[in-house]
Amino acid sequence: MLSDVFFSSIDSKKHKSPLLKIAKLLNRCEPHTVFTKGDLIAVKTHFGEYGNTAFVRPVFLRPVLEVLNKLGTKPFLTDTNTLYVGMRTNSVDHLHNATMNGFNYSTLQVPVIIADGLRGDNSVSIPVDGELLSSVKLASEIASADGMLVVSHFKGHEVTGFGGAIKNISMGCSCRQGKLDMHSDSHPFVNQDHCTACGRCLLFCASSAIEMNPKAFITDKCTGCAMCVSVCPHTAIQIDWNASSASTQKKMAEYAAGVFNALERKLIFLSIILSVSPACDCYPGNDRPVVSDIGFAASADPVALDKACHDLVIKEYGGSDPFKERYPNVDSAIQLAHAEKLGIGTAGYRLIEVD
Ligand code: SF4
Ligand code: SF4
Repeated sequence: MLSDVFFSSIDSKKHKSPLLKIAKLLNRCEPHTVFTKGDLIAVKTHFGEYGNTAFVRPVFLRPVLEVLNKLGTKPFLTDTNTLYVGMRTNSVDHLHNATMNGFNYSTLQVPVIIADGLRGDNSVSIPVDGELLSSVKLASEIASADGMLVVSHFKGHEVTGFGGAIKNISMGCSCRQGKLDMHSDSHPFVNQDHCTACGRCLLFCASSAIEMNPKAFITDKCTGCAMCVSVCPHTAIQIDWNASSASTQKKMAEYAAGVFNALERKLIFLSIILSVSPACDCYPGNDRPVVSDIGFAASADPVALDKACHDLVIKEYGGSDPFKERYPNVDSAIQLAHAEKLGIGTAGYRLIEVD
């Protein structure tokens, strides 16, 4: 059985607003059959680390909120605190960051709630029937919402190949301990030949897991957050992606299944396929997009949606996978296959173009 994925290209013949396209896509997902008047609906997005400019633009949330407001629901914007040290490590910094990036009441007229509390430890445990996990630790305000509209930026990701809807409802909806659960097989190591002993990585490690003797090395205090990988100016900190990515992706799918359980499948997904950067929006900067802007896609099925977005990127790149080029040891299909196995969607889809 195929899932419907509604797609609207960024190409516009008559200067049609992308905002109208987003509203049309969401309405094709029949939100009135998913959400009910009075529901508290989490609009889950990624507010972008300060300095990054590739994340979902706040203006794209306007049609999302209009659709939800017309249904009489009560939407709020939400995201969760990060595992690594940055501008989104606690709710105070996170709300400052969100405001600076344009996600705030004055721009969008909805409250912003950081879903896992002041320090990222407000969570509830939700049972899942996974291969690796029997329960997941979700951010409490997401688990207690009545439903969720998930707005994701589709882009590359160094651990999972790409990051889309599944990543947004797994890594993005867990508390800090949950993020650690998913990342804990992904411990990096220091390539001693590249390390110059500059000490920069020590400043960014929240777990004090890096020591110098005489060059940097990572101790067993490491939580696998991967922050140090991004800050080393000499790319000396590396990860054995081949050994770790599969486990992280499977755990992500199991966390996504936990979100489906907690919200009783009341979810709709919108993905923005613009500024398709090669790496995560958690970095305080971003690279040149790997392909030209593509458009917007929406579905009730996150597996079909991620597969469709990935296929659209491959098509735009001329038939090969730009993420695979960057991360040759990562097989991004693992997250899709495992999510499918857990019953949260199917990689088989019908792409329906919406003008
Ligand atoms: S930031 Fe990189 S080069 Fe500097 S000490 Fe750490 S591993 Fe070595
Ligand atoms: S050493 Fe481990 S805990 Fe510290 S920043 Fe690197 S990955 Fe994170």
